[in-house]
Amino acid sequence: MLLEIVQIGDPVLREKCSEVEEINEEIVALAENMLETMYHAHGVGLAAPQIGRALRMAVIDVSHDPQCVSFMTLNDEDVKMVDQMPLIIINPVLELDGPRAIETEGCLSIRGVRAPVGRPSVVKARFQQLDGSEVVIETDGLLARAFQHEIDHLDGVLFLDRLSPAAKMGIRKQLRSLGV
Ligand SMILES: [Zn+2]
Repeated sequence: MLLEIVQIGDPVLREKCSEVEEINEEIVALAENMLETMYHAHGVGLAAPQIGRALRMAVIDVSHDPQCVSFMTLNDEDVKMVDQMPLIIINPVLELDGPRAIETEGCLSIRGVRAPVGRPSVVKARFQQLDGSEVVIETDGLLARAFQHEIDHLDGVLFLDRLSPAAKMGIRKQLRSLGV
């Protein structure tokens, strides 16, 4: 089922989301619907507050570009990124590492706006999967960026908050047209 993607200005995008306490049928169905909604919108990530639910969960799929990471480990074992997609991330905790990299980002909740964002280039993410098991993933590239972007959403943080003053100047007209 396609869900409505809420847009900037909706207060749910600024909420600090609550932990998912029990992975029940409702959460499984929500994850499926979030994936369908993300693919339909041609996104690589979607967080629960973006469909109006202030819960600490998100979905990610960056398999459209098999070269977008240089490595990925799952519980300390080397894995092929495309084999692990999509990811359903519940109650994630993030550790950041590596030099900062600047890449252009967009957001399904901020239509028509793309801007360069500096972020650490390597992440270690610990989260629960739909079956309740806890995993640790370490990776870089677009997947590291997607983890950071989506987990920011769970704390009410948007990529606009992470722009340099110059990057913010560069998109001021688009922001004004969105009423931001
Ligand atoms: Zn976003």
